[in-house]
Amino acid sequence: MPLSSVHREALLGLLAGAGEARFDEPLSRHTTLRVGGPVDAWIAPASIATVMSVRRYCASVGLPCRALGSGSNLLVLDGGVRGVLLATEKLRGLSFGTATPDDPRIPVTVEAGVSTGKLLSEAVRRCLGGIEFLGGVPGSIGGGLIMNAGTYLGEFKDVTVEVMSVSESGELIHRPHAACGFVYRGSALPPTEVVVSARLLLPPRDRAAIEADVAALRKRRREREPHGVGCAGSFFKNPTGDYAGRLIEACGLKGTRSGDAEIAAAHANWLVNVGSAKASDFVVLIELARQSVRERFGVSLELEVKIIGEPE
Ligand SMILES: Cc1cc2nc3c(=O)[nH]c(=O)nc-3n(C[C@H](O)[C@H](O)[C@H](O)COP(=O)(O)OP(=O)(O)OC[C@H]3O[C@@H](n4cnc5c(N)ncnc54)[C@H](O)[C@@H]3O)c2cc1C
Repeated sequence: MPLSSVHREALLGLLAGAGEARFDEPLSRHTTLRVGGPVDAWIAPASIATVMSVRRYCASVGLPCRALGSGSNLLVLDGGVRGVLLATEKLRGLSFGTATPDDPRIPVTVEAGVSTGKLLSEAVRRCLGGIEFLGGVPGSIGGGLIMNAGTYLGEFKDVTVEVMSVSESGELIHRPHAACGFVYRGSALPPTEVVVSARLLLPPRDRAAIEADVAALRKRRREREPHGVGCAGSFFKNPTGDYAGRLIEACGLKGTRSGDAEIAAAHANWLVNVGSAKASDFVVLIELARQSVRERFGVSLELEVKIIGEPE
């Protein structure tokens, strides 16, 4: 349902020319799966202060409001999203501090909209390690923290000291590492909050060694992962002691399609958009994979990808 002109004018006023607003914006443009209906308002503030005022406004008028990173771990349903999506892509602050006499690690302050690729390349340039695990992992820092994104080389939890977020009512909250509740591909950071920045600590490391680890990770990914299709990485979390991809493959589901959504032939835990898939096609494949694995192995697959929005 379109937002009233009163809400539109108020949101545009809060941005005051710094930031961007789009109304009835198709989310297929903002997700790497390239599916998803429209959101009533896509709002990209250019400062943390504006995130706070947009949240305050939404809370005061009862407009739903949640965060959107780079959309690389999202399945948005075909009916779209009601209310406001707060896109973090314009929060791009990134600064490197200096080591203290008792800790050689370098403090880094990074805003939520910085891409994982940008953070990694700036760290490599300064001979800082600890985030080699980001090689080939897309997304924003905010999304990475929420998901505790990572690979066999590590995850966000290993380098994060503090996370700053904005509550529903617009207050800035500082959360030390111990209160973030990082777990495998997840965190206890409340889904109602918008992560706006974080403090990391990165250890100095020989640049050639960092680059060798990143290159090996990227090579391994190139060899195993599908290319040239809409995707969101792994759809399911690996169950303890096993791999979701192995279980789905053992059910004979590789290559199975619903519309233009496919259980990738290259990797059964990747569901991909080979053309003009709808979110409902992915929902069919998710249910098929879950039901088949449950019946054959007695294992309940848990989604890694987040589903938001309404069915058509
Ligand atoms: C090709 C490909 C490869 C991938 N490989 C990996 C991999 O190796 N390892 C891995 O862990 N992941 C992988 N992923 C998944 C994805 O990259 C990560 O989960 C990433 O961290 C998601 O970040 P995002 O900014 O895109 O988040 P989004 O997809 O935008 O959002 C994901 C969730 O986080 C929330 N969120 C996002 N930003 C914020 C914020 N600032 N504040 C509060 N909530 C927020 C959203 O509401 C949503 O619930 C891959 C994805 C793709 C497409």
